Formats: sequence, C-alpha cells, structure tokens
Amino acid sequence: MITNSLSLRHFRNLEETVLQPDPAVNIFYGQNAQGKTNLLEAIWMFTGSRSFRNAKDSELLAFHEKQAQLELTFTAGKRIQQASITFQENKRRVRLNDVPLKSSMGLAGEFCAVIFAPEHLALVKDGPAVRRTFLDEAICPLRPRHAAILSAYHKALIQRNALLKDIPHHMELLDTLDIWDERISKLGASILFARLRYLARLLPKAERLHQAISSSHEKAAFQYESAKELKDCLQAETLHAVEIEQALLNVLQNRRRIDIETGITGAGPHRDDILIHIAGLPARTFASQGQQRTAALALKLAEAEVLNDVIGEPPILLLDDVFSELDAVRREYLINHIDNAQVFITCCDPQGLAPKAGAVFSLSNGQIRRGFTAS
Ligand code: ATP
Ligand code: MG
Repeated sequence: MITNSLSLRHFRNLEETVLQPDPAVNIFYGQNAQGKTNLLEAIWMFTGSRSFRNAKDSELLAFHEKQAQLELTFTAGKRIQQASITFQENKRRVRLNDVPLKSSMGLAGEFCAVIFAPEHLALVKDGPAVRRTFLDEAICPLRPRHAAILSAYHKALIQRNALLKDIPHHMELLDTLDIWDERISKLGASILFARLRYLARLLPKAERLHQAISSSHEKAAFQYESAKELKDCLQAETLHAVEIEQALLNVLQNRRRIDIETGITGAGPHRDDILIHIAGLPARTFASQGQQRTAALALKLAEAEVLNDVIGEPPILLLDDVFSELDAVRREYLINHIDNAQVFITCCDPQGLAPKAGAVFSLSNGQIRRGFTAS
C-alpha cells in the first residue's frame, strides 16, 4: 500500500498542504507543536478507524474555520484510488473514487495503516486491559464479527455479575447462573479462539522483530496468560472452540463460590493478559524506557506484518516520535530495515538520520518542506 499524494486544507494547524511522499521512508522533523502528529493523524483518518487521539471532528477543524478537507491518492492492490474526507462542524463527508460513502467506516480495508504513537508505550507499561484492547482491535478488521461477539460477551458478563451480587440475598436465583455460564462460555470461547489464532501469528513475529530492532542484544518473550485451569486446553497443538467452551464452563462452575463472595466473574477472556518478558524479567516492572519502547514497537510492527500476510501487501506504517529513548542501533533499524512498507516517521531532531531510500521533510508552523532546511 502506497500513499501517492495527500492534500490537506484547514486540518488542525496544517493550513494548506500538498505532500508527495516517497514510496519508502519519509521522515518529518520539526520542533514541538509544529504539526507532526497532526500530519500522521490526517493520514490515519483514511483508515476508517477512530482517531488515535480520540479527537472529536470539531477538534480536527482548524480553529476559526468551518470546513477541513483531506484528499488522498493511494495505490492498493496495484490499483490507484482516491479518497476524500470533508469535516464540517457536525458532519463528515467521505468519498472513495468519487462515490459517496455512508461513513468513514467504508474506508476500512481499503486504505490500511498501523500507527505507533507515544500512547502505545502503555502496551508495556500499563495493566492488562490495554493489551487486551490492542489484541481485540487488531483482530476486528480481520474478523468482522469479533466486535459484536465482544460486545455480547461484555453484556452477558454484566448480567452474570449483577446476578452474583443478588444471589446471597435470593438463593433461589442460583440456578439462573447456568444460563449465563453457558452464554459466557460460548462467547468467551469464541473470543479466546480468535485471540489465540491471531497470537500464533503475531507473537513469533514480535519476538523476531524485538531481536532485530535491538540488533540481537536482547530477547523478548510474549505469552498469552489466561486462567490457569484453561492452560492445558489453550496450549493444545490444535485448538478447538468446543473444547475451550467446555473448559471455560468448568472454570466458571468451579469458581462459583468465590465469584458469589466477590460479586464478580474472576476468570475468562476479560481477565487475560499478554505477559512480556525481556531478558527473562517482566518488562512492565524491570525494563528500561528504551526496552519498553522496543517491545511496544515490536508488537505494533508485528501487527503490520500480520496485516501484510492477510491483505497481501504491507500496510502504511505511521511512527510518531518513535526515536525518543532509542539508541543509534535501534533507530537505524527503523530507518533502513523495514522491508517493503511505506513508512512515515516523525521526530524532533533529524541529526544522524540518513535513510538509504526515502525523503526528509521539515515541518514548521504547519508548513511542510522537502529536504533539510536551515533552522
Ligand atoms: P511534538 O513534537 O510536541 O509532539 P507536534 O509537531 O507533533 O509536536 P502536533 O501535536 O501535531 O505537534 O500539534 C501542533 C499544534 O497544532 C499544537 O500546538 C496545537 O495547538 C495545534 N492544533 C491542534 N488542534 C488544532 C486545531 N484544531 N486548529 C489549529 N491548531 C491546532
Ligand atoms: Mg507530536
């Protein structure tokens, strides 16, 4: 997937810009608050996903303007396509090859990108919920019914938890738990099955990428962690959703007493995690900042590789402020060793950055210029 040209008008602080990126690496440098992240955000809008900064449309419009316009020409599957997005205060108009789409969601799967932003360090630093969300969001584009299954699972969980809290006062409700245990096992098994299938592709890539970025200096291990009673079933050579369902049902039934005591469902995919170890130590507590960034990056680059396997071409890589805390070896990998993909990298300091193939742009006060400019 290649971005051929991008034109922006009144998008945040990017007033009027036409950009013709290089098909390989594109480095955008500039001081703080010049519009680097805004530029990546503009490109990201064409993926049809929600803003990685959770921005409302009204915030994307340049201050005091009534309309913002984004136009993108890109090559996907050897076909040149055009997309445009117009933001007005309460309305977004989206077109693909001059055909109006109902919403930006219609662009999903047409233009594919993976973003790594500083917020993604939370993948290593924060609690399990961030990693579960990462996993499920990565699966959703590949398995369209995943979102609906997750939503049904969470609704069933709320019902079961409400029931758990009522049971001590109304013992006659105990039998009703069967219905929710069965429903949660069925939906939960489907979630687990999809996660494990996805992780079987993702994790070996993430481990390889971690080693490559750190130039073999260190080894990371990523491992899915679920209720211990499920371990044998989940580690079986061949996964069967029916067997996972039965194992999950057993877990829920065996935990009943403790779940009633606590009033919450203490096991299931909503409690799972991806454990990350670097050089044998838990990354969340022991890894340095650079090591944490490397591990988070390895996961995101692995996500891009899985997408590449599925769609048959590499998605665009958007790497925001990726060099901070990385040493020269790790930076060099990112600039020169990401094969095939078109990459957009932002940074403050371009010193020592020399992509073997690609272009460098300066960004100052919302203006983009090709090449190094005297500061
Ligand atoms: P850093 O290196 O600190 O990450 P950056 O170059 O990535 O900086 P951006 O996050 O892209 O900076 O933001 C640049 C500027 O855009 C900010 O100063 C912000 O005030 C401004 N900005 C944000 N939204 C709008 C908007 N809707 N209209 C005009 N300007 C905006
Ligand atoms: Mg920024």
